[in-house]
Amino acid sequence: MSAEHDDHGNRPTRDELRGRLTPLAYEVTQHKGTERAFTGAYTYNKDSGTYACVCCGNALFASNTKYDSGSGWPSFWTPLAADRVREIRDVSHGMIRTEVVCARCDAHLGHVFDDGPQPTGLRYCINSVSLDFRDASTGQTDGADGSR
Ligand SMILES: [Zn+2]
Repeated sequence: MSAEHDDHGNRPTRDELRGRLTPLAYEVTQHKGTERAFTGAYTYNKDSGTYACVCCGNALFASNTKYDSGSGWPSFWTPLAADRVREIRDVSHGMIRTEVVCARCDAHLGHVFDDGPQPTGLRYCINSVSLDFRDASTGQTDGADGSR
């Protein structure tokens, strides 16, 4: 493996994340926490852009699949691509739910429910603190680390 530019499987360490993330973002992404409803920075964000993983920068969701679910958390009806997230059966808290994690670094993002809008019928209910929004109008690209 010639790994001069290996950003694959290059997970941020917990120590690094503890130093870089807010305490809430650390709790949510590393300990499967949940931010309080209607408190997240991106709940009502309607700007055009891309939502990336706050831990590793993996581009996860696009603003044009975001919708107002009324739940109090940012909601999307599909990830940017199927391989950007992983879905895990979660039976904690006496409920059967499907947890959504970052496919690259396993950061906890939120849960997916089957009461979303068409065409998928899915609702990806995601914590704002798990996301890092990249505004399309600022010219920042998503996922292209180090290209500029
Ligand atoms: Zn990640």
